[in-house]
Amino acid sequence: MEKVVIMGTGCAGLTAALYTARANLAPLVLTGTMPGGLLTTTSIVENYPGFPEGVDGFKLMTDMQKQAERFGARVKFAKVESIDFSKTPFSITADEEVIKTQTFIIASGASHRHLGVPGEELLETKGVTYCATCDGALPVFRDKPLVVVGGGDSACEEAVYLTRFGSKVYLIHRRDKLRASPIMAARAQTHPKIEMVWNTVVTEIYDVAKDQVTGVRLQDAKTGKERVLDCAGVFIAIGHVPNTQLFKGVIDMDEHGYIRPVRGGQTNVPGVFVAGDCADSVYRQAVTAAGMGCAAAIDAERYLSALNQ
Ligand code: NAP
Repeated sequence: MEKVVIMGTGCAGLTAALYTARANLAPLVLTGTMPGGLLTTTSIVENYPGFPEGVDGFKLMTDMQKQAERFGARVKFAKVESIDFSKTPFSITADEEVIKTQTFIIASGASHRHLGVPGEELLETKGVTYCATCDGALPVFRDKPLVVVGGGDSACEEAVYLTRFGSKVYLIHRRDKLRASPIMAARAQTHPKIEMVWNTVVTEIYDVAKDQVTGVRLQDAKTGKERVLDCAGVFIAIGHVPNTQLFKGVIDMDEHGYIRPVRGGQTNVPGVFVAGDCADSVYRQAVTAAGMGCAAAIDAERYLSALNQ
């Protein structure tokens, strides 16, 4: 039987792994389908303390894993399929294997939000993408006009990144003010290859018949006027949804699916803890996720100490 099983290998999961490993609890860390989490899809992380020149997102996550493993964490590529928290030890089914554990830390993160417009799903990987750093350099986008949708830090970061490849980048935002932090917003707005398209929503992505992206239908949010904009790629960066579907009805969460801890990292089920983006709709930073991972690990360690006394 395991003492600690952690679901997720983003900043929260790997920090929880580091702390529980250093407490000699030999945590088992299940990666899910995206080892390293969303940060592996970022280029340079400039706001994680300790890296004055910034750090590559993939490298940061690889190093976090190595650091946790050095103290005895075991990282396993497996997707959690079901959980049974009705009795202790808890039962976790991952890749058809049943794992028994005394404590469980949910650090399942969040996934990219989808626009939900016609063409989006059918053209995914055919010009529609949710990750500029993963796909931006593909030949299909070279020297072509590209569209980024969103108004947050991600959209600004992706738009600036894509200027390396596209002939021009249109940043489509549904309002007339960016949500992004001032420094990221300024980088996008002052870039000569980026054109801001304000108060505008994408209503359809073309061309399903051609099996590739050829353009988007845009609607002015104020006047309702529609037009078509030609482009070779649509990069959607409109935020995230928490990966908590598995816990619905068992673990307390808000109306958007963010888990609500009762105290620190402790959820409403004793022995089940939570950390990171799946429980944070406000800050959603790498460093806050890491801090929450640390808190959940300390809570789990204290819970186990009390249990075993
Ligand atoms: P976000 O801050 O939630 O921004 C999402 C953007 O998408 C908002 O501008 C929102 O518009 C727009 N949006 C949401 N749903 C939409 C829809 N259905 N149609 C059209 N537009 C829609 O998400 P994010 O940019 O991914 O950032 C998430 C967190 O990560 C933030 O805390 C951010 O600071 C952080 N982050 C930091 C960095 C960095 O510092 N290097 C980089 C990336 C992300 P409204 O503004 O109108 O709501």
